Amino acid sequence: MIKNFTISRKAQLIIFMFFLAVTGTLQPQTITGENELINYLNSKDTVYENICIEFGKETWDLYSGEDASNIYTPKSKMASFLTDKEFTENIDYWYGNISKISNETAKRKVIVWRSVIYGTKIELDPDVKDVATNLLEELRNRDDKDTIKNKQLEKQVIELIRIRNKKARELGYENYAYYILDYFGIGQKWFQEFAEAIDRHSAPVYKELQEKVKSETGSVTLKEIMKYYKQPESIFFEDDSNHIIMKKSLSDIGFDYDKLPIRFVVKPADFGGNCIGVKIPGDFRVVMVPDMPISVFMHELGHGLQGIYTSTNTGLLEGYEWCLGNSPAMFYEGMAETMAEFTRTPAWLKKYAGYSDEKIAETFKQDKYAAALRMRVNLQWMLSEIEVYKNEDKNPAEITNALFKKIYFTDENRSRPYNLLNTSFVDYPCYMQNYVIAEFIRWQVHQTLKEKFGENYPQNNQVGNFLVENFYKYGVSKDWREIIKDATGKELDVDGYLISLGL
Ligand SMILES: [Zn+2]
Repeated sequence: MIKNFTISRKAQLIIFMFFLAVTGTLQPQTITGENELINYLNSKDTVYENICIEFGKETWDLYSGEDASNIYTPKSKMASFLTDKEFTENIDYWYGNISKISNETAKRKVIVWRSVIYGTKIELDPDVKDVATNLLEELRNRDDKDTIKNKQLEKQVIELIRIRNKKARELGYENYAYYILDYFGIGQKWFQEFAEAIDRHSAPVYKELQEKVKSETGSVTLKEIMKYYKQPESIFFEDDSNHIIMKKSLSDIGFDYDKLPIRFVVKPADFGGNCIGVKIPGDFRVVMVPDMPISVFMHELGHGLQGIYTSTNTGLLEGYEWCLGNSPAMFYEGMAETMAEFTRTPAWLKKYAGYSDEKIAETFKQDKYAAALRMRVNLQWMLSEIEVYKNEDKNPAEITNALFKKIYFTDENRSRPYNLLNTSFVDYPCYMQNYVIAEFIRWQVHQTLKEKFGENYPQNNQVGNFLVENFYKYGVSKDWREIIKDATGKELDVDGYLISLGL
């Protein structure tokens, strides 16, 4: 009896599996109609948002130290959620049949879901997830003086680079860097043209600077050339004053800081600041390193404002940062930098940093040599890690030195060896170009603000609402390129910015 029962169960199972296999090939998706799809997508939104909130809390605890942190749990939940066969097949099906969807939000969700599913394939792969989670912990807790351990950690970072590359090749990419550029929303081709534009505009002026330095000093050492490097002056306030100035600066453009669901905690870390959207739009928290200039406070606040004023009301389109492919990082950095840039405008510097008219004139005098040099530094900054991924079999120090020589037209090596012992290698891989692109975005946004509200726009209380209505409110419900185009009247004007710098 038992035996018979067993056989019949087995037979049933085989028939069932066969049925699944046949229907699976004929009709891979289980969601067939548009209304059904909309409900289905809504239910996925809720599950996803809950995992994102957990991710945010654990990441907050990791950096703030307010509680014990366990990023592994939300990572595992996210991995099983995003690799669920039924879910991924439905999204693949509807992505391939996107023209059959008439509801615009559903259409957008399918596009973003597909990007999230493929964008997390590597980082949430069991071979990568565990290695990366452990390595992040070890890098955060490492001792600078423990050279033996640090050598080991360097090897682990290189191993992580190799595993990521291997997984990227399995997905049809030449390397992990090209894969990640795709899922940041820029793509390797756009990025290459971007880097070439910076190179093309800055190289002649940089060479002119080399000639100038040579005629002045008789040699062209980088040390001499770097004397022409200039950053906007960093404005510092006493710790307590940062919040007062931040509040006033926000109030000038029409935001009420006290009503924002955001809080700052000051704590040492290996970054300047980190704004974590634990729940979008209702819970933002910032870890700040002590003694940061006001621009860093405003940058993190910018991240907060964008999230707080996102009004899409759907977990996926609110643009959580935990899954590559969900939000375009360079656009989000651009919004953060837009806020930081207020503290570098003449109107703000006069009001809060006591700049005189002469000092303003001097500060904003065009300096093409400094600009060219800064753009060369940007190239080095954003291309080094990508070169390391492109050349996994070569020594990172040699690779980055070769790049250094090409960028600065020099025979010198980097003054400091390339450092692999950085948490960003693990949790923000190939991220640096996002800051460089952000600089171009913030320029274009500020140009628009100036055109619309006049020179004194940092003290115009309509500006905040303009930012909300034209940039923040969309989350990722609209493509970032369209947001920029619609709000500023043109696509991201890479050449325009470089020309404005005298390049
Ligand atoms: Zn940022």
